[in-house]
Amino acid sequence: MLQRRAWAEIDLDHVAFNIAQIRSILPSHTEMMAVVKANAYGHGVLRISQLLAELGVTRFAVSNLDEAISLRECGMTGDILVLGFTPPEGFDQLAAYRITQTVFSPAYADLLNQYGVDHQIRFPIHVKIDTGMYRIGFAYDDMDLVKKLFTSKGLLVQGIFTHFSVADQLNPADQAYTQMQADRFDTCLYQLRNYPVGMTHAQNSAGIVNYRNYTYDLVRPGILLFGVPSGELRQNIHLKPAMQLKSTVAMVKQVPKGAEIGYGRDFTAHRKMRIATIPIGYADGYPRSVSGKGAQVLIHGQYARIIGKVCMDQLMVDVTDIEDVRVGDTVVLVGEDQGNTISLASLSELAGTITNEMVCRISARVPRVYR
Ligand code: PLP
Repeated sequence: MLQRRAWAEIDLDHVAFNIAQIRSILPSHTEMMAVVKANAYGHGVLRISQLLAELGVTRFAVSNLDEAISLRECGMTGDILVLGFTPPEGFDQLAAYRITQTVFSPAYADLLNQYGVDHQIRFPIHVKIDTGMYRIGFAYDDMDLVKKLFTSKGLLVQGIFTHFSVADQLNPADQAYTQMQADRFDTCLYQLRNYPVGMTHAQNSAGIVNYRNYTYDLVRPGILLFGVPSGELRQNIHLKPAMQLKSTVAMVKQVPKGAEIGYGRDFTAHRKMRIATIPIGYADGYPRSVSGKGAQVLIHGQYARIIGKVCMDQLMVDVTDIEDVRVGDTVVLVGEDQGNTISLASLSELAGTITNEMVCRISARVPRVYR
């Protein structure tokens, strides 16, 4: 393989394995709507969506119209649902690209419906119900507003859904909250039982793993596809991480005891040291917030500590005790080397964030390499 400055290695077999694992815990009638927003959580929407299509996935969800259009342009012919807001300027493109839009408030429904009526379009929609997340959605206790959608000439209801806010937490209070959200959603569905609501769905990754008894028509996995759920979820399903983050040694040097390394002179060499400079930094999505917290990389399969602050394009590591480190050697920032591992989850925890954020922040200048 061509040696690069830095790259994200994506194992498509691992994505396929994860899909099989998810399917194995779903009831047989439940379909999967793959959430591939944010460039498939940083994994590259083109290759990921092609793989998903080969594996029989026909439903996709994205966050916005631009993502939906790129997915169509990748050749996806199945259903594409925009989970968030599309401004009125994009309504004609919703129709042109056959995109399904989430309708999440009476005002937004009016806007889309009026455009549809004026332009003789019937927009396919999924209706979002707010059962307790308080982000977007029709209020769970006012189904009369939702019933109006079924007689709106510019709208065609094809689905109805909600979103859980704490399905990843298994303490009694949060479990009760998720149950309450599901109960509210079930009550809405009951009130709409004589209306053609289409596909019902609620579960994101955490909901799929932790609430296996909820049997709606669809589930919406995102992070599970990529094998790196955060927190306790990891213990409850066996998945394989799809992404490794790698770079290469750019320079190796000896520094004297007392050398003050990096921006802010944060790290002082307590002995004569050998340090390697690695050409990857926070502009690539490697988190600056792990500076000084003991984050490590792998070189020759051995752990090397990051010293000083992570810079925009480079970082320094202590290789004093690793033999024969040379320019061009591969550096694993996330992944596995000779049996040792740096997990995305542990790096995310050190950075004070979740794996979802970490993967989608790997920037566009980092090439994705597939195997
Ligand atoms: N459904 C909705 C409405 C979302 O906003 C998201 C992601 O944020 C998902 C599903 C997928 O979430 P996860 O990656 O936790 O599976």
